[in-house]
Amino acid sequence: MPYTVPKLTDYSPEALEKASANLLSALNAEAAQVADEDGYKAFRDRWVARKNGILTQINDLWLKSAPKDAKREVGQRVNELIGAVETRVTETELRCRDLAILKKARAKGIDAEIDGSRRAAELSDRIDITLPGIHRPIGAEHPVIKTMNEIVSVFRNLGYSVQEGPVIETDYYNFEALNFPPNHPARDTQDTLFIAGQDSKQQRDRLLLRTHTSPVQIRTMERMKPPIRIVIPGKVHRNDPPDASHSPMFHQVEGLAVDTNITFGDLKGTLDHAMKMLFGSSVKTHFRPSFFPFTEPSAEMYVSCFICGGSGKRGTEPCRPCKQTGWIEILGCGMVDPNVYGFVKDKGYDSRKVSGFAFGMGADRVAILNYGVDDIQMFFQGDVRFLQQFE
Ligand SMILES: [Zn+2]
Repeated sequence: MPYTVPKLTDYSPEALEKASANLLSALNAEAAQVADEDGYKAFRDRWVARKNGILTQINDLWLKSAPKDAKREVGQRVNELIGAVETRVTETELRCRDLAILKKARAKGIDAEIDGSRRAAELSDRIDITLPGIHRPIGAEHPVIKTMNEIVSVFRNLGYSVQEGPVIETDYYNFEALNFPPNHPARDTQDTLFIAGQDSKQQRDRLLLRTHTSPVQIRTMERMKPPIRIVIPGKVHRNDPPDASHSPMFHQVEGLAVDTNITFGDLKGTLDHAMKMLFGSSVKTHFRPSFFPFTEPSAEMYVSCFICGGSGKRGTEPCRPCKQTGWIEILGCGMVDPNVYGFVKDKGYDSRKVSGFAFGMGADRVAILNYGVDDIQMFFQGDVRFLQQFE
């Protein structure tokens, strides 16, 4: 009896498991029977035809008629089955194509030439193990993602937890709650990409592409009482025309620690340790005063150039990554401005009781330095020849 999709009355996990298993075993049995192009077409239409194919039927008979509380579970199941069926159909198509090539070759009487031996001709009609396999390239971690993961793991080892947030943010989280008041000139330093058609909304509710990962600091403090130690990896956007060192989309890793009695000494110790973990135990760090609206005092941190060892020279050539200074600017940091706690006061962040530090760095920039890449655009152009070097 050919397989038919049953109507489901019982939506318990056990019943779903059983129904899925029956469907998959019918799929595998039918796929194994396919021996030629016509057989493949019939198989394909039976399973994936839009009109009354088995996938359409499970959608109608299982998912659409599922009771409300089982919909999620059934939906996941159906998605898995769709994936399994589509994979099997593709595999079957490729196998048929291989069989057709073999058949053609046989018709010309050149069996022996295909594999250099008589053995292939004596094999079953179905499988010729001497034909080349299907090459499916295995992907690898993108160098920027790899770098982000490395940075995150340094902080995870220090007890930081990972937090993420939306890339499309409100003006409130991206600016206002981080102590950038409306019309504050500091907003100009972050050329923002706004979502169109937001004019009727109040400024704080307008949507934009986040210009930094810092909104996640506020979002996390709204959810978690102090003490917190978090690290925030993510994608950010600014209205920067693309060139060798700028991209309208790039990646940041940001961190925040809030507790009682956290001092600038904790900030320095933590970041110095992190840089040694990332760039080698011999790197030195130093801090220069800076300004960010959400930290006070603020600093830029430099690491001694791990490319020229701090000398500013590579042999007789000038060292370009550190611009011959021996130091590379690597991140911005500072003590959390008490005004920022004001936005999460009712969540237990009383600026008289808690203190903390925050820092943020560009993951793409760290990747550029680590891999000696001279153009940030290379990371995002999707050129496989470039990306293959990082496998
Ligand atoms: Zn250098």
